[in-house]
Amino acid sequence: MSYQSEQNTSTRILMGPGPSDVHPRVLKAMSIPLVGHLDPEFVEIMDDIKEMARLTYKSKNEMTFVVSAPGSAGMETCLINLLEPGDEALICSHGVFGSRMADIVGRCGAKLRLVEAEWGRHIDPDRVRDVLKDSRPKLVAIVHAETSTGVLQPLEEIGKLAHEAGALFLVDAVTSYCGTELLVDEWGIDAVYSGTQKCLSAPPGLSPISMSPRAVEVITNRKTKVQSWFLDLSMVKNYWEGAKRTYHHTAPVSAMYALREAYRLVLEEGLEARWERHWENHRRLRQGMEAMGFEFLVEEGYRLPMLNAVKIPGGVDDAVARSRLLNEYNIEIGAGLAKFAGKVWRIGLMGESSSENHVNILLSALDEIIN
Ligand SMILES: *Cc1c(COP(=O)(O)O)cnc(C)c1O
Repeated sequence: MSYQSEQNTSTRILMGPGPSDVHPRVLKAMSIPLVGHLDPEFVEIMDDIKEMARLTYKSKNEMTFVVSAPGSAGMETCLINLLEPGDEALICSHGVFGSRMADIVGRCGAKLRLVEAEWGRHIDPDRVRDVLKDSRPKLVAIVHAETSTGVLQPLEEIGKLAHEAGALFLVDAVTSYCGTELLVDEWGIDAVYSGTQKCLSAPPGLSPISMSPRAVEVITNRKTKVQSWFLDLSMVKNYWEGAKRTYHHTAPVSAMYALREAYRLVLEEGLEARWERHWENHRRLRQGMEAMGFEFLVEEGYRLPMLNAVKIPGGVDDAVARSRLLNEYNIEIGAGLAKFAGKVWRIGLMGESSSENHVNILLSALDEIIN
């Protein structure tokens, strides 16, 4: 390909760790002509998005809006607005995204306390309880759906422990959001962020976040300025909240159109029905993969429905099989990361990509490639 020719990328079947396939209605929304980002009609679109973000987070949090950048920026927004230099943060890390949070804590000048679990396993709440006996962190943070390993982390007990210790509870819901049960208010989550390209099935590049009143109070009472101008919520909020919106940055207008339509699709289906669909297709995939001799990496009961980590069977060449899937079948699946490279595949069944048809296509293709 060279720039002289029009872009002609293949139509892929996206079954990796994100982005996922996007509904035609969402693609269509992106072709609507732009309006100005402070046009009253666009402000209405932002308000719709806030309302639908609250409905899907199951939260009444006033401070609920969308960071104009990908999931990692949502992560950074939450941590840098809640932490000040010298504060202590307890990060529960069981994969790539937990380590990313730990890295950001250091960059905030905060003190890091780490509870780690072996990759492929969840964090045992007793380990958190032990650490909280002799420390008073300002926040406890954890990843709900660890996309690097396929682990579904139970949250409720750790949330209670955090609150008993007087800490805020921060959750990464990038992959779990709109794909499996997530009850922000009921589970006592004080700060949560997600992304648009996983189970929400919108294009990548936006991060819905939500802050509880307790978290907002912490932000309001900061003694130091947030070190990032762009992600400083005390300024971003004036763009998203209040009767008179003031310019902060230029929102990615077309991406917001897409997000609005993606949210409408979620609510039309019903959040609970959508969670159930993700589980149903996970079971379907599991049955087919196990019949072919694949084993799951994660122990039963802690597996994600939308990100299936399976061990690559002996005799199957990782790179060859994945490139055949891509080149002959147009199917993308995810490679293993870090110590799982070459050993594990990560099969995404996220949002629009969580369908019986996706499962059948992948199973048939794998059957031809492997046998
Ligand atoms: C994808 C992902 C992120 C990062 O999102 P980006 O949009 O890639 O920046 C963070 N946490 C988890 C659990 C993810 O799966």
